[in-house]
Amino acid sequence: MKVFEILTLFPEAFPGTLDLSIIKNARGVYWDMKAHDMREYGIGKHKIVDDEVFSHLPGMLIRPDVVENAIEGIGFEKGRKIFLSPRGRVLDQRKVEELANANEKILLLCGRYEGIDQRAIDYFGFEEVSIGNYILCGAEVAAMVLMEAVIRKLPGVIGNSASFVNESFASEHELEISENRYTRPAIWTTKKGDILEVDSILRSGDHKKIELFQKNGRKGINKGIGEQNASVSARIRTKTD
Ligand code: SAH
Repeated sequence: MKVFEILTLFPEAFPGTLDLSIIKNARGVYWDMKAHDMREYGIGKHKIVDDEVFSHLPGMLIRPDVVENAIEGIGFEKGRKIFLSPRGRVLDQRKVEELANANEKILLLCGRYEGIDQRAIDYFGFEEVSIGNYILCGAEVAAMVLMEAVIRKLPGVIGNSASFVNESFASEHELEISENRYTRPAIWTTKKGDILEVDSILRSGDHKKIELFQKNGRKGINKGIGEQNASVSARIRTKTD
């Protein structure tokens, strides 16, 4: 079972969306988590967790001794230590698979305010992982993003492993996004009267033809993620056609 221990000032943020659907059902079988309130490990009567940044910079930082108290207090010894941080390596599917395959506990340290005193990060050997090049107010949603991506990759969590075939960013495909996908209705007439029809080849049931069609349709996509063109395999006719 994959166990996540989370150090946060807002434990009530968890399990959040991890308490839904497939991920929820897998809890206690394939994975589990505990969100620990770092404030309990604060200093003195007032349980202080932060202090001003040294130097001219404004803002507050979580103190390193609070992180130390928390790690000791929860008894985390062996396992992977991750600090969610915009300065870290950006999370990708490769990293997700590596974390899912590693047979170890994961400690997730969530920053708030201006972050965490760097000494705590370096001293305890936290690996820094970002979920993208933008700044959040805190790492709680970032931790949940990482957890959800890792949990769905744990063997057994998603019953039908066919779901992983052709999945975007799967390691076999390098950094590739999957083909466009469509379902019923095959001919969708929008409320404005536009008609969007799924190409008949995709509905033909001829797997060879479909594969060829998708290969051609995917031309140019691999270069830039997000350049997917909806009209590649759905013919769009407008009222004026
Ligand atoms: N002053 C910091 C940002 C602090 S944001 C800086 O400029 O780097 C407060 C906390 O939110 C961070 O310590 C981190 O734990 C979390 N956070 C913010 N953006 C994030 C991101 N893109 N990925 C992961 N964690 C993030």
